[in-house]
Amino acid sequence: MTRDEARAADARDPLGGVRARFRLPPDVIYLDGNSLGALPATTPGAMAAGVETAWGNRLIRSWNEGWVEAPRRIGDRIAPLIGAAPGEVIACDSTSANLYKLIVAALRAAGGRTTVLSEAGNFPTDLHVAEGAVAAVPGARLRVVARDDIADALDADTALLLLTHVHYTSGRRFDMAAVTAAAHDMGATVLWDLSHSVGAVAVDLNGAGADLAVGCGYKYLNGGPGAPAFLFVAERHQARLANPLSGWFGHAEPFAFTDDYRPADGIDRWLCGTPPVLGLMALEAGIATFDGVTMAALEAKSAALFDLFRARGEAAGLHCITPVDPAGRGSHISFRHPEAWPINSALIEAGVIGDFRTPDVLRFGLTPLYTGFEDVWRATETLGAIMADGRWRAARYAEKARVT
Ligand SMILES: *Cc1c(COP(=O)(O)O)cnc(C)c1O
Repeated sequence: MTRDEARAADARDPLGGVRARFRLPPDVIYLDGNSLGALPATTPGAMAAGVETAWGNRLIRSWNEGWVEAPRRIGDRIAPLIGAAPGEVIACDSTSANLYKLIVAALRAAGGRTTVLSEAGNFPTDLHVAEGAVAAVPGARLRVVARDDIADALDADTALLLLTHVHYTSGRRFDMAAVTAAAHDMGATVLWDLSHSVGAVAVDLNGAGADLAVGCGYKYLNGGPGAPAFLFVAERHQARLANPLSGWFGHAEPFAFTDDYRPADGIDRWLCGTPPVLGLMALEAGIATFDGVTMAALEAKSAALFDLFRARGEAAGLHCITPVDPAGRGSHISFRHPEAWPINSALIEAGVIGDFRTPDVLRFGLTPLYTGFEDVWRATETLGAIMADGRWRAARYAEKARVT
């Protein structure tokens, strides 16, 4: 594809107009949507109004003017993006904290089964939190096996299968319906981490018969740095699972101020403390960038961006490690190169912002809401130039940063 052809593809793109919903600096090509989504154009105004009017003028009265319902209201806006029903999703806490709540809850309700099974190389917090969660439940243990051994490792002691739907480095995607069915056949519950799936690929939790899920607000949902996360509990499990972080916002009547904890019915019991209202405002504005956009349109554009990126990235000398089959991957593309860190640093200096993932992965988010074909063309042109002239070898690119 030539640059003119890429421009023509942008002109034909049914999602082309959605880019105007974001504020992107003109001097960068932003391909890091999967670590921090771009700033939605409406977020500064929504935040300013939320701070000046709702907080500044309405003060405490705002709790009854939309704040207290925000976790539930935003959960109901996330639900259609992940194939959940209203009342099955709530926006709260971090992904890590939500993992803890659901893992402990699932273990305690597992009727004597004690094993949490997960994938070696899963996102670190998933494994770290699982370690802490099994330590909190007498007799429970964590078993971590290679991806290809998961099916065989499911057994009569598996309480919970904990998996990330789209892998954060390789981009490999599990077949949610098939894996869920296999786990159910063995009597296990499944907890899906949707951090790299929500807003990136079509997810159908209820279609797959899923039990539990968590996901991130600051990646493809564009909710801003440290945005509240979300969790999903299928309606059929809601009455039987208890939140181990039994804080007052998950109480049936928080403002009855009783000594004893009595959980709220439904999804509200998964709240713990006072919701982070300012963060929720930004998350709500982020989710609104999906208004009127179908996941099918997103997936189709993501697939086309991927094909262009892959062809030109491989031509530049990088090895693509993300599956070629669109159904087998998420919406990012990763390449392996032993010098991934300095190459990525040189790219950033040249105005192309991607991600490095240790030890040797270059990862680029293909966010169809605001990434166009010409962007991919230009980014890969820059990548090709950096690989060809070897400028990434300059000593300054070898210096490591604290956040990568
Ligand atoms: C980004 C990500 C998280 C983030 O967890 P936080 O608690 O928000 O830091 C968790 N799991 C996966 C798979 C992720 O990609």
